[in-house]
Amino acid sequence: MAHVILDGLEKPVANIFCIGRNYAAHAAELGNAVESEPMVFLKPTSALLREGEDIVLPGFSEDVHHETELVVLIGKGGDDIPVAEALSHVAGYGIGLDLTARDVQSLAKQKGAPWTKCKGFRHAACVSALVAADKVRDPQALSLRLDVNGAVRQQGSSCMMLFPVAYIIHYLSCVYGLQEGDLIYTGTPEGVAALHAGDALQLSLDGLLKAFWRVRA
Ligand code: MG
Repeated sequence: MAHVILDGLEKPVANIFCIGRNYAAHAAELGNAVESEPMVFLKPTSALLREGEDIVLPGFSEDVHHETELVVLIGKGGDDIPVAEALSHVAGYGIGLDLTARDVQSLAKQKGAPWTKCKGFRHAACVSALVAADKVRDPQALSLRLDVNGAVRQQGSSCMMLFPVAYIIHYLSCVYGLQEGDLIYTGTPEGVAALHAGDALQLSLDGLLKAFWRVRA
């Protein structure tokens, strides 16, 4: 069963929700308008990749992009969770990559087809180990950074989110219901770009944690 590591313990993963276009500068770099409500898509749990294994790029794409994102693990489920109570439902925070086959996504957008292939392939949901929620005073004050081969590729802050974590939890709980073990990828700041065989990736979530991956050569 798919799981993440929280404070050294395995936690089973239920659903993987992802929010698109949650940073204005990233929406702009892909020529997308800002959304009036969270834009939600799903990844299968088979897409999860924890640290310790190389990223294998899918053979069907020539243009797999990294999207560096704050990842939220739900500890206590619920329906219709009020915004004011939302953060008390969080078990932990991590940093991850919403890998995206951009060429396949562009075709899907043209056809109005689902994003399952471009967002849900094996290894498309990279996730660090998680820190417990009580170690994070304010999830909207976290710096996110991705270095590729030693050079900064993406750098942002969760303060730039259009829909903050508490609102995302409220929204998801109202539409879908949330369960213990749900993971939420909260969107990427600008700077998305293609990955290549042999790339070495280092992700940093504020001073809280780092994660490393290599793209299989
Ligand atoms: Mg994303």
